[in-house]
Amino acid sequence: MASERTLILVKPDGVQRKLIGTIVSRIENKGLNIIALKMLNVTAELSKQHYAEHVEKPFYPDLESFITSAPVVAMIVEGPEAVSVMRMLIGATNGREAAPGTIRGDYGSSRQMNMIHGSDSVDSAKREIGIYFTDNEICSYGVALGDWVCAAD
Ligand code: UDP
Repeated sequence: MASERTLILVKPDGVQRKLIGTIVSRIENKGLNIIALKMLNVTAELSKQHYAEHVEKPFYPDLESFITSAPVVAMIVEGPEAVSVMRMLIGATNGREAAPGTIRGDYGSSRQMNMIHGSDSVDSAKREIGIYFTDNEICSYGVALGDWVCAAD
């Protein structure tokens, strides 16, 4: 199965609620690899780039206010089918509808403040990784326990 990369953000509410470690642990416990990680403030310009598909939607102004309101933690997560695996770990957009056991389902009760972003496709991931990271910020490395987490399938 294909190894993929996906762009993950711990959003401002996740940072403020001190859920960075919890979210990183969920990702690591699943066996996925974090190959880049940094904290940054999302500017209005960066928000418009990231959420280009939503800029014209009625909820966008509130979304921009939210995503620029406190720092985020950006990560690149790599592993077998990492895009869809992370989307399953994250859960539905609206925390009130997200299944228990997912990050949003366990910690969220808002549609906007849903703690975490994960790319929705391999193409989106490539675009979003390019927005948040330069090539020299990415640390691709061999994971010693990799064969014990996911070998052939
Ligand atoms: N969002 C919102 N109101 C809506 C839909 C989405 O505030 O009605 C926010 C929410 O923070 C969401 C982000 O916009 O995570 C991007 O929306 P998308 O539909 O892409 O959801 P996601 O892929 O994050 O589940």
